[in-house]
Amino acid sequence: MNAPGVMLSCERLTKSFGQGHVAQQVISEVSLALHAGELTLMMGPSGSGKSTFLAMLSGLLRPDGGAVQALGQDLWQLGDAAIDRFRLAHCGFIFQGFNLFASLTALENVLFPLQYTDLAPAEARARAAAALDDVGLAPRAHLRPLELSGGEKQRVAIARALVKHPQLIFADEPTSALDGSNGSIVVDLLHRIARERGTMVLVVTHDPRLHSRADRIIELEDGRIRRDERIDNAMPADAGKEGA
Ligand code: ADP
Ligand code: MG
Repeated sequence: MNAPGVMLSCERLTKSFGQGHVAQQVISEVSLALHAGELTLMMGPSGSGKSTFLAMLSGLLRPDGGAVQALGQDLWQLGDAAIDRFRLAHCGFIFQGFNLFASLTALENVLFPLQYTDLAPAEARARAAAALDDVGLAPRAHLRPLELSGGEKQRVAIARALVKHPQLIFADEPTSALDGSNGSIVVDLLHRIARERGTMVLVVTHDPRLHSRADRIIELEDGRIRRDERIDNAMPADAGKEGA
């Protein structure tokens, strides 16, 4: 079991690619605990293992060694189907390429993850509309990706990741295709979700703009954690909410 407040942790997580003399250890016995309500940034040079690490923590890539405790479950001890169900039920993913369906409207894209739930159609539509409203895109709900800017597309992708209210959110370079102000909007959104819903948010990035919103910064180098720092970024707007 995880300690109180810890939603996701790993113990001596290890992964190599290749075999024999070309084997390359990409993640080397990394242990870490991530907390509810916190936005954690994972930084580090290209090739340092960030995406690999995130994929193992989120049930997308099986580690060679070590364990992941996710919401009190020993994730990689579950069967493949149970891991898929765990991801669908509890994890939201945001990637840099948006991966929206070009033929669907913004609203239909956000509705997509709700199709395998037992929500009534009207309720699903209301939820999707609310998720779009959360990211400030209610007025653009009927537009298709081609009619949206890069920043708007990423906000649709975020609404889609959030529509099921996942407890764990994983974002891999969510702002790298966005310019300054759009990048900041996305960061503010992720920060707000962590604060308001107590969600654990883990963001892989090398975008320094995200520093001002992070609760913690982890830096990977050659598959190991070389820095793990908590930062005090409490904004005046948060101070009131936390007391409530
Ligand atoms: P980062 O996200 O920090 O840039 P990655 O986790 O994507 O780093 O990759 C770390 C290292 O692992 C790189 O050297 C990369 O080439 C290698 N790697 C990642 N995925 C695979 C794979 N599926 N097969 C072989 N090598 C891989
Ligand atoms: Mg990467």
